[in-house]
Amino acid sequence: MVKLAEWRGKALFRKYGMPVPSGQVVRSADEAERLVAAGSVPLPCVVKAQVLAGGRGKGGAVRFAGSAAEARDATAAILGLDFKGEKVREVLLEGKVAIGRELYVSIALDRSLRAPVLIASGQGGVEIETVADGAIDRQPIDPFPGITGYERRRAARVLQLTGTLAGELDALLRGAWSLFQAEDAELVEINPLAVVDGHLLALDSKVIIEDDAAFRHPEYAEIQDDRTPLEEIAREKDIAFVQLDGNIGVIANGAGLTMATLDVLLELGGRPGVFLDLGGTDDPRKVTEAFLLMAQARPTAVFLNIFGGVTRCDTVATGLVAAMQQVPESNRFPLVARIRGNNEREGIEILRAAGVTSIPDLRASAEAVVAAAGGTP
Ligand code: GDP
Ligand code: MN
Repeated sequence: MVKLAEWRGKALFRKYGMPVPSGQVVRSADEAERLVAAGSVPLPCVVKAQVLAGGRGKGGAVRFAGSAAEARDATAAILGLDFKGEKVREVLLEGKVAIGRELYVSIALDRSLRAPVLIASGQGGVEIETVADGAIDRQPIDPFPGITGYERRRAARVLQLTGTLAGELDALLRGAWSLFQAEDAELVEINPLAVVDGHLLALDSKVIIEDDAAFRHPEYAEIQDDRTPLEEIAREKDIAFVQLDGNIGVIANGAGLTMATLDVLLELGGRPGVFLDLGGTDDPRKVTEAFLLMAQARPTAVFLNIFGGVTRCDTVATGLVAAMQQVPESNRFPLVARIRGNNEREGIEILRAAGVTSIPDLRASAEAVVAAAGGTP
């Protein structure tokens, strides 16, 4: 799931012919003051934190400014915020408009309907979850024709838009549908879609790009900057590595086994925190690299839970033993292994020679890891 910041979403809106206010993104208060003073942002202006969490309006992350100095102060205040756990790094400045009505429109992928839905509500400007169901209109969309004329007219009626405004909604929905399809979005949300001087204007954007289509959109690869430095290195080496709070490292293969291992450790009172999914690798050097990355995360204990299928147990064991010899003394940690499956006996033998015992029972091995990590807190 790639969530785009508001300004990136609005850039897409513009690309697909949807009306948005003109704006500027800044990363410092000085830059904000300079752009406003130069007339690049009309006054009065809106100053908005570019974070992915919603509810900025209520949370003090949307402010107004009437001068370049005020824009500087508002930007400085917002850049200092830690909004719902997210550090604000970017701020969007836009001319403030006089809002007539605030509407809600979105196209979302509905997994239970297995179809996109067009959602419209006359009660925009607040989070849609807080709007009564009766005030929300949902139309499942057949992806082949896309949003039809009938569906666009029904949305206009729900939003009580007539005349020019109905025409503008029609064009906006065509644009939103093109965006949804061409950009592989799973959500295109406009909240509020405002009526300003008798015209529609998208005042906010929320666009989420479908993960499975990420390979078609290399332009989004670099904007996920919420990775830890080790996760960043892992990504470059194509290693599935996730770092969370917790002191037990888990090395497993396959997402299913990794998740199951996590569940078992949690159930036994352990705190799994670093996950490394070896996937279907058949290269001992890759295993070595992955293990060295794990060591850098400084876990208290590590659980190696491997099911040998495509990945043979001896491949993993060989890579692991090579890695163990490279980990500096100060970074060593207790290792509990459970390797089963293809070439199990060879793998166990390689580990045993290096002083690591494989415990075949899942519960027993997980208990041993929790104990090695300091037991139940
Ligand atoms: P969110 O709360 O994170 O969804 O942020 P929004 O972008 O939706 O902004 C929150 C609210 O700020 C909107 O619902 C508007 O009421 C208000 N707002 C944003 N831009 C303007 C503007 O140009 N003029 C006025 N009057 N209000 C605005
Ligand atoms: Mn909003």
